[in-house]
Amino acid sequence: MNAKQLYMETFGCQMNVNDSERIVTMLADLGYRATSQASNADMILLNTCSVRGGAEEKVYKRLANLRPLKKAKPALIMGVGGCVAQQEGNELLQKFPWLDLVFGTHNLHLLVDMVRDAENGERRCETAFIDNEQRLDLFPPAKGNSRVSSFVTVMQGCDNFCSYCIVPYVRGREISRRSAEIIAEVRQLADSGVQEVVLLGQNVNSYGLKTEGEPNFARLIRMVAEIEGILRIRFTTSHPKDMSDELIACFGDVAKLCGQIHLPVQSGSDSVLALMNRGYTRASYLDRIRALKAVRPGIAITADIIVGFPGEGEEDFEQTLSLVEDVRYSDLFIFAYSPRPGTRAADLVEELGREQKVQRLERLLELQKRITREISESLLGTCQPVLVEGEGKHHGQVSGRLESGRIVNFPGDPGLIGSLVEVRIVKAYQNSLLGGKYYDLTAEGAEEKPESFAVVQVPCFKRGNPLEDQT
Ligand code: SF4
Repeated sequence: MNAKQLYMETFGCQMNVNDSERIVTMLADLGYRATSQASNADMILLNTCSVRGGAEEKVYKRLANLRPLKKAKPALIMGVGGCVAQQEGNELLQKFPWLDLVFGTHNLHLLVDMVRDAENGERRCETAFIDNEQRLDLFPPAKGNSRVSSFVTVMQGCDNFCSYCIVPYVRGREISRRSAEIIAEVRQLADSGVQEVVLLGQNVNSYGLKTEGEPNFARLIRMVAEIEGILRIRFTTSHPKDMSDELIACFGDVAKLCGQIHLPVQSGSDSVLALMNRGYTRASYLDRIRALKAVRPGIAITADIIVGFPGEGEEDFEQTLSLVEDVRYSDLFIFAYSPRPGTRAADLVEELGREQKVQRLERLLELQKRITREISESLLGTCQPVLVEGEGKHHGQVSGRLESGRIVNFPGDPGLIGSLVEVRIVKAYQNSLLGGKYYDLTAEGAEEKPESFAVVQVPCFKRGNPLEDQT
C-alpha cells in the first residue's frame, strides 16, 4: 500500500515546531508520511500561532488558499491545530465548511482518533483543556534539533498574564513536568549519543515552584549536569522576575551550563513595563544582568523587545535604546506591537501608527546590528570551543555552535560531528562565523594541545561593562 502524504505548515515558536514533529510521528502509525508538497497531500494540517497580531487572518487566508485542493480531491483531510484553533474552536468549522478537524493545544493525544473519524467523513473539534494529572502524563517526548542536541520540555503553560500576551489563554496555566521523568529522558538521550540538551518551557525559571516535592529550576539544572555524556546544557525561555540568585549562581559553577541566556526585556521604560504587567523594573532587570555578568563574564545575552506598545512615548523608546546599549545583547528579537484580541492590552489606546512603529523598529535594529557586529568581530583570531552538530553551509564544511549559541562553519570532515573542537575564528558575518584551523578536544592525546590553540577568553564587553558605570 502506498503511504498517504501529510503536508504540515507550522507557525510560531519552538513549542509548535516540537508539536508538529510529534504530530508527524503520531500520524506515521496511520500510514501518513510527511511531504513538502501541499498539492500531493492526502492530509493538510496547519499548526498555528496567535502570539503576533493578524494570526487568525493569516490562517483564514491560508485556508481559503488551500480550498481548491479540497475541491479537486474531496477525500483530502484538512485540519487546524495550535493556538488559533484553541482560540477559535468550532467557529473555524462553521466558517470553513471544507475543514475536517480542529484540535487545541491540549488535544494532540486525540488526533489519531480524530483523523480516523475524518477518514470516515466525520468533522470534529476538540479544544477542551485537560486536567493537570492528565497533562503530566502527556508531556511531549524529547526532540532532536541535530544529531547531538535535543530539546527536552520541562514545563508548559504560563501564569504571568503579561498584558499583551495570549499564551496563558491558549496554552493554559503553568505545569511542571516530573523531574524523575526529565532525568530519565536526558539519561536516555545521553546513552543515544546526544551531548547537548535544551531545557524548554514558556517560563522555565518558575519550574517546580508550585509543585511540592519537586526541585526548583536551579536544582534541576544541577541534576541534569550530573548526567554523564551530557556536555552542554541550555534553556529557554526565562522570565526576568523569576531569575533567582540561585539560578544565576549556576552560571558561575555549573561548567556544563552554556554561557548564554535569552532574557526577554520587552522595554527599557518602567512605565511601559508596568503597562505590560511584566513584574519587574528597568533597575531590577539590569541588576539581574549585572549579577549574570559577574558570575559568567562574557555571557551572551539575547532578548525580545516590543516597540510601539500603547503609551510608549519617544522618551520611553529612548530608554529602551539606552538599555540595549548598556546590556550589549549578542542578538535581539524585535517586534512592532500589534494588539491581540482577548488580552488586556487590546483595550489600551494606541497612539502610534504602523509607520512610526516601523521607524522605531528600524532604529533599534540598526543599533543592535552594530553591537552584534562588534561582538562577533571581537572573536576574530581567537580559538573557541565548538560542539560540531552537522554538515556546514558549503561542501567540505562542518557546522557547530559556540557556547554563546553563535553558529560557526569551518572546513572539516563530517566524521567530526559530535566532537568538541577548538576552532580559530577567521571571519565574522552578521549571523554566523567562519572558522579556520581546528583542534579536536575529543581526539586521542588531545590533552597535549599546542599552545597556539589555547582558548583566548574574549569578553563581550570590549569597552568595559557600561552597567558597572551606572553604580
Ligand atoms: S511570560 Fe508573559 S509573554 Fe511570556 S508566555 Fe507568559 S504571559 Fe506570555
